[in-house]
Amino acid sequence: MALARDIYRELEDVLGPENISEDPVVIESYAFPTRAAAAGTKDVYVPRFEAITLPKDTREVRAIVRLCNKHEVQFKASSTGWLYCDPTGPGCIKIDLRRMNRILEINEKNMYAVVEPYVIGAQLQAELMKRGLNCNLTGAGSNCSALPLAAHVNLGHLSQSGSYGERNLLAMEWVTGDGEIVGFGSLGSLGEWFCGDGPGPSLRGIIRGNTMPLGGLGVFTKAAQKVYHWPGPRTFPIEGVSPNYSPSEIPEGFIIRYLSFPTIEMLIEAVRKIGESEIGFELMGFNAAMMASNIATDNDEDLAYMKKFTEQIQGPGIMLIMAGNSTRDAEYKKKVLQKIIDETSAWSLKDVEEPKIGAGFLWRFIRIVGSIRETSRATGVGGGTVGGTDVFPLMTKYILHTSDLKQDLINKGLIMDDGIYPFIQSIEHGHTGHGEILIRYAPSSPEHTANVQGMLNREANKTAIEGRFGVPHHVWSDTLHDMYGPHTSNYHLLLRKIKKNFDPNEASESSNYITAKD
Ligand SMILES: Cc1cc2nc3c(=O)[nH]c(=O)nc-3n(C[C@H](O)[C@H](O)[C@H](O)COP(=O)(O)OP(=O)(O)OC[C@H]3O[C@@H](n4cnc5c(N)ncnc54)[C@H](O)[C@@H]3O)c2cc1C
Repeated sequence: MALARDIYRELEDVLGPENISEDPVVIESYAFPTRAAAAGTKDVYVPRFEAITLPKDTREVRAIVRLCNKHEVQFKASSTGWLYCDPTGPGCIKIDLRRMNRILEINEKNMYAVVEPYVIGAQLQAELMKRGLNCNLTGAGSNCSALPLAAHVNLGHLSQSGSYGERNLLAMEWVTGDGEIVGFGSLGSLGEWFCGDGPGPSLRGIIRGNTMPLGGLGVFTKAAQKVYHWPGPRTFPIEGVSPNYSPSEIPEGFIIRYLSFPTIEMLIEAVRKIGESEIGFELMGFNAAMMASNIATDNDEDLAYMKKFTEQIQGPGIMLIMAGNSTRDAEYKKKVLQKIIDETSAWSLKDVEEPKIGAGFLWRFIRIVGSIRETSRATGVGGGTVGGTDVFPLMTKYILHTSDLKQDLINKGLIMDDGIYPFIQSIEHGHTGHGEILIRYAPSSPEHTANVQGMLNREANKTAIEGRFGVPHHVWSDTLHDMYGPHTSNYHLLLRKIKKNFDPNEASESSNYITAKD
């Protein structure tokens, strides 16, 4: 179904003919079949956008949003278009923000950075490192937007010392679903970016809760985020050619270890102690399979590393990076770590201690370039279940419930045996934590996918609700919010009111958020 001519012409008047298209080839190139991939078939029908728009600034975004409201057309914005960006039905146009690609400010003194949506994490981080600063990046990879609002949760490898979007977000600019421009915090009152709250009540909780609204509540056009101290080099000394490239050495003062533990209780104790002593720059509970995928450049190598690492580890493990601010600080952190290793019977993987290999791991984990390999190696299809963000031991306990189910699926031959240790992470030096169970499989049919992913989802929901583990990050859509809401203070009713108030015509396509239905 094409857009009515009058609507198309009005959009063209705003954007200019070169910044709007309904050419079938262009439309097709935006039809990334997320849902088809999840269903394990190429044949699932994926709705196409009616037109693609490329606004250059907030004024044009607002004009598109207002036209959509006027003509009862829906829109869906994306920053880089990495995931959750497809329409779910006809009558939806795309707002592709790739022309809004500027770093607007890096304020070294007050330690914040302001970006537009198409600035990617790698770009912002590189600019910050030149200034002795660093930022959190979403764990999906540094190819994703540096806007702390675009990501799904915005947790990532750097969250141990760099927190995540919910906490790093400062002032921001938002075009609501009905086309109002709102400046949050100090932007609204002073035209400055340093603060996300007030005067008066904070609006930060309106635009995000457990996760972002995933396109369902208007368009975020600019945002400031808190940035952090970076004690490392201005750039990494990279050698080699892709895929065999890595830094020639570990930067001075940096230490990387992969520690495995005899039991999950020992791991939790070590994570608590590392957090309490604030010696960790990065801390991710990776398992042997994820470590193998991070280093391997092809599938055979991946399997060989996985076998090697699995034979050496003694149980669940963590990848830890420490960054010394001086030689004395690095020495102190090493001593503290040794004490924790002794107290928790941790064992350090020898390959990671080897300087050349360690340097590669360190660079890939800090620049977040291995995520797609860590999650979707071999067949391109990843899967599993994710928990929420709460205290580390609770989130670990939640996700371990699904480990048993994963073992069942492995025993039945439905998925690959890549171990059942969970992928857990510590945030803000142990302030909170998050956990996931990842699976690898080659979907042989939609039934196979439904069997595997469906079983995991059902079990994860049952465990979360019955075990009172809170609302996991996979909860979006009317169905899931309606399932969790009644067990969680009826939050879903409030979420619907937010949707109704800020997007009364439901112009912002919200299948990945919540609709305003009564
Ligand atoms: C391998 C892999 C690993 C992942 N790991 C993580 C992880 O560790 N942490 C995490 O939080 N997520 C993770 N994700 C989930 C998710 O893919 C990313 O968070 C997100 O897609 C990042 O890309 P982006 O920020 O450029 O946003 P996009 O991919 O462009 O968009 C993501 C969603 O946000 C909406 N959106 C984007 N920009 C805007 C905007 N400016 N205004 C309004 N709505 C917007 C889109 O409509 C879409 O629904 C992962 C995904 C993959 C495939």
